[in-house]
Amino acid sequence: MKKIIAIDGPAGAGKSTVSKICAARLGYTYIDTGAMYRAVALKVLQSGKILDETLINDIEIKLDSAGKVFLDGKDVTKEIRTPEVSRGASDVAKFGFVRKKLTELQREMARQGSVIMDGRDIGTQVLPNADLKIFLTASVEERARRRFEELKAKGAAVDFEQIKKEIILRDKQDSEREIAPLAQAEDAILLDSTNLTIEQVVLEILRLAQ
Ligand code: C5P
Repeated sequence: MKKIIAIDGPAGAGKSTVSKICAARLGYTYIDTGAMYRAVALKVLQSGKILDETLINDIEIKLDSAGKVFLDGKDVTKEIRTPEVSRGASDVAKFGFVRKKLTELQREMARQGSVIMDGRDIGTQVLPNADLKIFLTASVEERARRRFEELKAKGAAVDFEQIKKEIILRDKQDSEREIAPLAQAEDAILLDSTNLTIEQVVLEILRLAQ
């Protein structure tokens, strides 16, 4: 059985949904690295402080086993899911000192036991020796549709074309940045979820994990 599973891919591909389910079924810890970049972005947005090494060194980010995210001791699970924080996360993720700190934290978390970690650079940078690497993707149209449905279900006033534009922009920013860009690791398995249900993707990952 594969003990360290890395799942990378663009925004809205379904990484966190399927990773959470797979982790629960395997009894592994799920680590959402995007939530960590989101927490940094939220700190910058809320504090009005400049993003520098002092801010990064002082920050405390914790993920609990129930999927809650804590920033400096405060539960920010809901606050980090806004479109503003999504944009902010992609902005802070460009900086080498931010990535260095979060990569260290993520490696430390992976040392604790069997994990499924999802993000953009897990298979390429954070855990290059992962036992299983998946690159999960889907068409832009489908990813935008999923995000749209997700936000609508939460009662947010959403515009499909706007969401699609933001996803395209975030893909571009994440793939073109200089440090640790979104990329499929050479030894990652490509999984296109455009025409698959959540359960089909989960079963495929569990099969690969065996
Ligand atoms: O996965 P999620 O959409 O929550 O990630 C938010 C942003 O954080 C991404 O758009 C990306 O810029 C950044 N990120 C990253 N590396 C990771 C995880 C997320 O650069 N491993």
